[in-house]
This record gives sequence, C-alpha cells and structure tokens, in this order.
Amino acid sequence: MTAPTPTAAKPTVQKDRSMAMQKAMVDGNYARLARAEAERRKVAYTFVPGNINELLMCFDLVVNYPEINAIQNGMRKKSGRYIMEAEKAGHSEDVCTYVKADIGMMLKGNIGPNDERLPNPDVLMLSYTGCFTFMKWFELLRHHYKCETAMLHVPYEGGSGFSKNSRDYVVKQLKETVIPTLERVSGVKFDIDRLREYLKESQKAEENWVWVLESAKHKPSPIDSYFGAIYYISPIFTAFRGTPTATEYYAELRREVEQRIANGQGPITPEGEMKNEKYRLVVEGPPNYTSFRDFWKMFYDEGAVIVASSYAKVGGTYDFGFRHDPDHPLESVAEYCLNCYTNHNLPERVRMLETYVNEYQADGLLINSIKSCNSFAAGQLMMMKEVQKRTGKPGAFIETDLVDPRYFSPANVKNRLESYFQMIDQKRRATAA
Ligand code: SF4
Repeated sequence: MTAPTPTAAKPTVQKDRSMAMQKAMVDGNYARLARAEAERRKVAYTFVPGNINELLMCFDLVVNYPEINAIQNGMRKKSGRYIMEAEKAGHSEDVCTYVKADIGMMLKGNIGPNDERLPNPDVLMLSYTGCFTFMKWFELLRHHYKCETAMLHVPYEGGSGFSKNSRDYVVKQLKETVIPTLERVSGVKFDIDRLREYLKESQKAEENWVWVLESAKHKPSPIDSYFGAIYYISPIFTAFRGTPTATEYYAELRREVEQRIANGQGPITPEGEMKNEKYRLVVEGPPNYTSFRDFWKMFYDEGAVIVASSYAKVGGTYDFGFRHDPDHPLESVAEYCLNCYTNHNLPERVRMLETYVNEYQADGLLINSIKSCNSFAAGQLMMMKEVQKRTGKPGAFIETDLVDPRYFSPANVKNRLESYFQMIDQKRRATAA
C-alpha cells in the first residue's frame, strides 16, 4: 500500500498594507449595506462607468454597485447558479452575465457576496454611459423594486473628445433632474460645498492612481495593469472615490510601488513576486472572474505582465488628463461621465490602445473578447488589426466570459496564449536578425 502523499504546504504570500486596506473598504461597504435598513438609511444602486459617487455621498446614501456584486460572486464561484436561475426565469443566453448574475441573486433573496441580505434600493441612479445594457438592466430592477429611477443621459462621444454642448447638457440634467430626485428620496438638501470637499479628495487619489498606472513604463513593470489593477481600481471606481480613506489607499499604494521600483521588483501575484519579465502586453476587454486566478497564472507562469489595459480605465480615463475639479464641481462630474471608456467611440479606443503599445513598450495587444459583453466586444477584431498595422506589433484574440463559468475553457485559452508568446519570440528574432 502506498503511503499518502503529503499535501505540499502552500507558500504564504506576504500581503501589502494596501491590499488589507482595500479589503477592509469593500467589506465595510457591504456591512453598511447590511445595516442600512435597520439604521433607516436610504440606498442607491448605481453602475461603475460614469458613476457620480461624490454627488451620491452628498445625500448620505449608501451605495450598492450591482456589477461589483456580480464580480464578487464570480470570484466566489456563486455566479454560475445565479445565471442559471435568471435563464430559468426567461433571460436569454446572450444577455450580459453581470445582469443575469444580479437578477439571479435578486430572485434568490438578494443575499450579497458577504452572505448578508442586500437592502432594496430607494433609488436607481442610472448614469448611462455608452452601454445600452445599463438601461435595460435598471428597467428590470425598477420593475421588481418599484422604486424611483434617476436617469442621467450621457451623450456618446461622436468625434475626438466631447463638446461643450454635451457637457452643458449633462450639467443641466444634474441640476434639473438628478439633484432634485436625490434630495426628494434622501430628504437631504444639496450642498455644493460638500461636493467640492469630496472632489478635492477624488483629485488627490486620482493623482496617485495615475502615477501608479504609469509606473508600468518601468522595466520590469512593478505592477500588473490588468489582473493586479482589478484590486487597485476598486476604491476609485466605486463607493469610496471622494473619501479620505480612498485618498490614503492610493498614497499607500504609491509608496509600495515606489519601493518595488527601487528594489527592481516585478508585480505581486497570488503566488508572490513575478520575477523574470519576458513579455509586456496591452490587454483590451474585461477579464474572466470565475477562473480569475487560473487565468492570471497562465500569464505570470510565462513571465507575461500586462503593462496597460483598457479595462483599468472603465471607470475613468485619468491617464489622459482628466481630474475632478472642486472649482467646477458639476461641470467636472459631467466631464468625468463623458470621459469614461465605455463612452468612447471605436477610433478613440484604437488610438488609446496604440498609445499604450508604444508608450509602455509592449510586445503587442491581446484582446480578451467577452462572449456576453457587446459593449466591449463590438469592433474588437477591427481594433486588433488596426493596432497591429499602426504599431507593427503582433496581436492575439482569446474568448472567455465575465462571470459565466461555462464559457471559460482553460485548454483553449492556454493554447492560444502559448502560440501568441511564440509569435512574439519569432517577431523578436526577426527584428534582431
Ligand atoms: S459594458 Fe458589458 S459587462 Fe458592462 S453592462 Fe454593458 S454589456 Fe454588461
């Protein structure tokens, strides 16, 4: 009889202080949501792209982000059964899986990722930025919860940048519709100086966040701008932007990254520091969350680091200069919404990816096409070909899904990545020759 093989002890990974801070923030918001009804606090549901978090804080609202719940449930392997639940209720296979994970969770009693019931919304704050699904999603929630909806219509970017008319149009809606609705729902009078204070905090956090993003220009890159960035973007894209806690988080993150640069270190992965950077990639498209760690491992095992990604800009394209501005509070809230990635047209997205490949000295562009996200998937093949043509660097295309485990095929993804890395090696040899 063979003796049982001892299980290898998993190496303990040293967690940075910023990681603990980020986790405490996320857990704290879920705890606030769980207490909201008992404490008679009003609750807003809203989306990540183009969110108006600082404005929502002016009304003492507790804010719930349904996309974040879907992501958290995806990472905790719970989203698959919620998606099936939504499909049983009639939602098609092609619908965005964030929506189905959310609807399924709602149908099963709205138990949040922290295993506590989420409160019903008092208001659905719909900042509409480029993805039509946002509108249909909140129509479904409104039908279920029968609560108020405040719609902020953000015009899609037609050319390069946005016009003053577009900005004024958004400001007008803020003044005439959004603020009065939030005052009525919350019972709190709007105070523009309170908004200015929050925007001051946002600006400070945004400065440090851009510094962290741009640190990936170093070789080796001290951060992973896709997988690692999923954790980094959480405070600034959700319920914490505008708070001193988020400001402190980005200051701490910056200090840690400065230290990694000084030590010549690569990014921190779930298995510790990535050594021997071999490939530098730009990635377009959201990640897969149901197999997030296995997916990431396929990269760091090969020495591949993501130096820039469009997904890390989904809640703000700060690296192209935008900052919230306390001196022009409502105008800057409007500009923020207009500027987010989902509101950018295809030529602008191509321009941005081309800039990343060049400025971050990447080996090429990888597209992770998401089966159920039409907003990102539209035009991605054209984008890949165009970026290849402009930069002379090879592109590659893989397909997964956000939070539907049925659409993550590890063998396929790994094969394609391996072929891509070989293609980059060949290209290097040809260039050297
Ligand atoms: S952008 Fe994609 S993932 Fe987000 S709501 Fe739209 S379809 Fe879903």
